[in-house]
Amino acid sequence: MPTGPVGTGTEEGSADASVHQELSRFSNFLKQQGFKITSQRLLVAEKIFDLKDHFTVDSLSEALKDRRSEISRATIYRIISLMVEAGQLIEHNFGQSVKYYEPVHGKEHHDHMVCTDCGLIQEFHHQDIERLQEAMAEKLGFELIDHSLNLYGKCTVLKATGKCRKAEAEKRLE
Ligand SMILES: [Zn+2]
Ligand SMILES: [Zn+2]
Repeated sequence: MPTGPVGTGTEEGSADASVHQELSRFSNFLKQQGFKITSQRLLVAEKIFDLKDHFTVDSLSEALKDRRSEISRATIYRIISLMVEAGQLIEHNFGQSVKYYEPVHGKEHHDHMVCTDCGLIQEFHHQDIERLQEAMAEKLGFELIDHSLNLYGKCTVLKATGKCRKAEAEKRLE
């Protein structure tokens, strides 16, 4: 049974150092919590740390499709919830029925702008917005721990053409 991070043995070759670091933090978490460290769990975790982007359970299983062995959705769900518990993955609710996830490592704090049609996620950060939120918290006597700011609208493609990826995806299913 593997006890450390597995970076070798996958088709992509070597992952970068920060991915290895996150993987060993995650296996330490599993060990401490008394969870089994299976090669499948580490494989899914490695893929997630590798993505460095917002993903859904669907897009993740799509990304894992080329694996020789089938990875069940139950396994994927389990890993995701363990990684959220470990504080290495943020769960986002972007106002859709589907949940988005985002690895914490290698990213500064940012806010999100979401296309209500195709689900495109644009990250942004603005010092004035950050400052105003802190000022408002202070005014209300709060000590801020965290915040999440999601703005919803039409992406540039939807604005320009009247349709974006959702329409295209539906066309593909026909
Ligand atoms: Zn869009
Ligand atoms: Zn983000």
